[in-house]
Amino acid sequence: MKRATPVADPRAVGVMSRTLVLLAFLVAFAVPLGLLPIIPAIPFSPATESEGKVPAFQVFSFNQPVSPTATAPPTNPTPTIPHVGIIAGHLGNDSGAVCPDGLQEVEVNKKIADLVVQKLLARGWRVELLQEFDKRLEGYQADALLSIHADSCTFPGKSGFKIARAESKYDPWAEDELVHCLTVNYQEQTGLAFDANTITYDMKRYHVYNEIHADTPAAIIETGFMLDDRDILTQHTAVVAQGIIEGLICFVESKATE
Ligand SMILES: [Zn+2]
Repeated sequence: MKRATPVADPRAVGVMSRTLVLLAFLVAFAVPLGLLPIIPAIPFSPATESEGKVPAFQVFSFNQPVSPTATAPPTNPTPTIPHVGIIAGHLGNDSGAVCPDGLQEVEVNKKIADLVVQKLLARGWRVELLQEFDKRLEGYQADALLSIHADSCTFPGKSGFKIARAESKYDPWAEDELVHCLTVNYQEQTGLAFDANTITYDMKRYHVYNEIHADTPAAIIETGFMLDDRDILTQHTAVVAQGIIEGLICFVESKATE
């Protein structure tokens, strides 16, 4: 009778190699996430170890900041000054919408934009008042950019505002946050309703989005209709401006404290 030579069971080998691969994957993900600590093989400080003050092995984790050495005191980061750009819609280019009585959109936009700029400068922010086709918009970099427009007199009975960002943004997290901050605060200050139904392609494919730096979160606001919302737009401009200011503060200053 022949003795059977021991042959590796292919099933057992398969299971073992799968387990090893799985283990390698687990380690590859768990270590960067800090779920699994890295333990160096060499004792960290044998001298102090004998005094019984520190453990023999220092455990490093990616989530824990490296403690600064005694010779390098922690530096205070210099506070960053918020920086925004405000476009007075149509300024330097055309009148925008014109009402039958001669009221021009560009006048309404400019009055609101001026107030926003003035108040944010007073707050210590760095602010640029920009024209519709401003040369500075090419590669423009800031914490936020907002273009201020108003809706025409063409639709009697229409009231409300709208805010939109570029529809083509690959990762619109910041833009959505900007739109959210502006919408909530503008609505709260002005009492106007958000009019989602009349957001146009012009707003979502606004030319400025293609000119500015890709990292600058930008949005466009239609502050209200020049017929039914005329009173608040032209007589209570400070309220309108305050809604925009609060929205920008919500976005820029909350971002700075993250
Ligand atoms: Zn406009």
